[in-house]
Amino acid sequence: MTPTAEIISIGDELLYGQTLDTNSHWISGKLDEFNIKVYQKTTIGDNEEQILKAFAEAAARADIVLITGGLGPTKDDLTKPLLAKYFGVKLVRNEEALREISALFAKASREVTAVNVQQAELPANCEKITNPVGTAPGMWFYENNTVFVAMPGVPYEMKRIMTDSVLPKLQKMFGENIIHHHIIKTIGITESSLSDLIEDWELSLPKHMKLAYLPTMGQVKLRLTAMGTHLDTLMREVDDQEKRIFPKISKYVYGYGDEQIEGIIGQMLIKNNQTLGVAESCTGGYLAHLITSIPGSSKYFKGTIVAYANEVKMNELEVKAKDIETYGAVSEQVALSMARGIRNKLKTDVGIATTGIAGPDGGSEEKPVGTVWIAYSDQYISIAKKFNFARDRKFIIHWTALAALNLFRLKYSAK
Ligand code: AMP
Ligand code: MG
Repeated sequence: MTPTAEIISIGDELLYGQTLDTNSHWISGKLDEFNIKVYQKTTIGDNEEQILKAFAEAAARADIVLITGGLGPTKDDLTKPLLAKYFGVKLVRNEEALREISALFAKASREVTAVNVQQAELPANCEKITNPVGTAPGMWFYENNTVFVAMPGVPYEMKRIMTDSVLPKLQKMFGENIIHHHIIKTIGITESSLSDLIEDWELSLPKHMKLAYLPTMGQVKLRLTAMGTHLDTLMREVDDQEKRIFPKISKYVYGYGDEQIEGIIGQMLIKNNQTLGVAESCTGGYLAHLITSIPGSSKYFKGTIVAYANEVKMNELEVKAKDIETYGAVSEQVALSMARGIRNKLKTDVGIATTGIAGPDGGSEEKPVGTVWIAYSDQYISIAKKFNFARDRKFIIHWTALAALNLFRLKYSAK
């Protein structure tokens, strides 16, 4: 039987809208990997009555109750004394917890205070869970066939406790089936075209594997999920299945798991010790924003020129007035001149450029809203591609930036 779990997030800040409850989101994802079904999530404030009620209700419904928050040393944090009250036990000093807290303080050359000593006092019926990165220990209870786990609210402390201790313990206790997800990230193909392309393969997948299409703006993630008893086997099986389909989709696959296209192009440049500059018209700096959202992008990214007005395209880049007159600002010729121009201006190995009609006005029959030219230029090739992203302004800007990154991915290769 698949065990059921509930997550209780505690803290006034979550209710006031000051802190986003990222803990329960993360925990849900992890439990799903272990085939533990999350039945309900509850968010409550630092309030005695509500907390006690939430414990009792969750215990009546679920096999596992995971609690985060309210474990700080201050008076507003109530989770620990209320767990003791709920189970009808006293708080007692846990010597090992005190040693661990003291060791953390010694490492930081700080004195243990009375408040921190209090953090080593735990409900008598709990098993302490070591918190390697903070002073509030986690707690594990098993009463009336229900597991209760209490963890600090600080996300990185909670994640360490979950990963190091809680998930392995839950796996031991409940784990027959485990789930392995493999995420393949594609760009440059729509969900329906992708599904047409891989339909035969999808239908041939073994029963314990499932495929999901997860489209986001301009990209489609493929999630291949396998269920079984041994992670090693599942990983190998998923790998084998991916190898079968990869030749068909390789053109569209840019990465896996949490990888992002803007990070991938960065890795490509770093590998070759090369630099990039961008010239943006319709994306207005958004392309540079995506590129610089990657830590370490300063190693390869030199900058952008937002050449929105024609005069900026002409004065700052290498766009000729004649080309704008003859072909228009949204044209192959202008896009190419912008990409070459930015390379020369910023002295980069590669230049990419965007020019398009983001709308809602400015479209014509020949060039409707959503018409975009994107150009790529390096030492060896300069190429421009036309796209049509007939959607609203925000989408067009986002898609254009993604398509520019993708054009880079497809055209750039080590020389
Ligand atoms: P606490 O364990 O209540 O002392 O929580 C410490 C800090 O962790 C809070 O001030 C919040 O910034 C953060 N926090 C608590 N609960 C959550 C949650 N559910 N998701 C994300 N952050 C949280
Ligand atoms: Mg709190």
